[in-house]
Amino acid sequence: MTSELLKDSFGRVMDYLRLSITDRCNLRCVYCMPEGETGPAHQLSLPSIERILKVMGSLGVKKVKITGGEPLVHPHIAQIVRLAKNAPNIHNVTLTTNGLLLEKLAEELVDAGLDAVNISLDTLDPSRFHYLTRRDHLPQALAGLDRALKAGSLAVKVNCVPTAESPIKDLLALAHLAQDRPLHVRFIELMPIGVSKGQIGLDPEKLMNILTQSLGPLTPISRQLGNGPASYYSAEGFVGKIGFISAVKSCFCERCNRLRVTADGYLKTCLHMDRGLVLPLEDEAAMADLIRQAVWAKPVSHLFAEDDGRGEERIMSRIGG
Ligand code: SAM
Ligand code: SF4
Repeated sequence: MTSELLKDSFGRVMDYLRLSITDRCNLRCVYCMPEGETGPAHQLSLPSIERILKVMGSLGVKKVKITGGEPLVHPHIAQIVRLAKNAPNIHNVTLTTNGLLLEKLAEELVDAGLDAVNISLDTLDPSRFHYLTRRDHLPQALAGLDRALKAGSLAVKVNCVPTAESPIKDLLALAHLAQDRPLHVRFIELMPIGVSKGQIGLDPEKLMNILTQSLGPLTPISRQLGNGPASYYSAEGFVGKIGFISAVKSCFCERCNRLRVTADGYLKTCLHMDRGLVLPLEDEAAMADLIRQAVWAKPVSHLFAEDDGRGEERIMSRIGG
């Protein structure tokens, strides 16, 4: 089936969808969610997900990242992966997870067609994990990572969001996961959204110095790895690569190819700016029209640098990262 090109008014082509299927989560990461009341929970139904994927695929979306909240708490996660894999024109289906339920679900997800998984993990230290996630579930996260690596065809990445107070030994321990395992470790700059407004991320240049002092020179990889804006480096003797995603310090908006749909059916055309609209989930033709219109009005870039009150008010678990 051929598809159209979904272009915005600046000529950027949207071919990548981050679909947040639930805004519930089994952790409470300090930069993402508050411990207490987060308001009513939302979860997309299977028929709505099927329609969103069908319309997005027919409009030109080729790659889908399933996210949340925690996507593995959705009771139909394997069916959702299968729906995405079978949607028109969509050939790459990945998900991002905290890993807690991966030990149980990895094989089922691979059978359903999952191509790759990102596991969000900020420390290998149990007490620091408790501090950062407000839960004692590091063993489950590590068991999930192990199972994902054993699930054969699955490409695995570990994502860490370092803060200014992250212990250096934690960051090095995470980087060293890529030494003898076939996975990439990526460091994502903290974005000032929701509960993380006012929190201080680790400066990307400082992080680079910390890593090179311990791992030796990092050699940039010129070929594109993965679907996103990460820059990758190889370290001497490492099986996997080290990646960096720095959305605030080095804006890559001119290359943005992303759309987001949240668990309450809201189409977001920019991670930071609250631009978008509620999708009519029951009506495919109306949905397609509104997606085209919203994409055309996609903002030229985020405004993280300007605290002018026009930024996103949602917490990250309601956006999907
Ligand atoms: N629960 C899943 C997980 O943790 O991967 C999916 C949802 S989570 C919102 C998606 C990604 O957003 C995670 O990698 C998380 O670390 C990242 N994230 C959350 N809050 C963030 C923030 N303020 N700045 C940068 N990344 C953030
Ligand atoms: Fe949950 Fe992921 Fe947010 Fe952590 S980052 S609270 S695991 S949604």
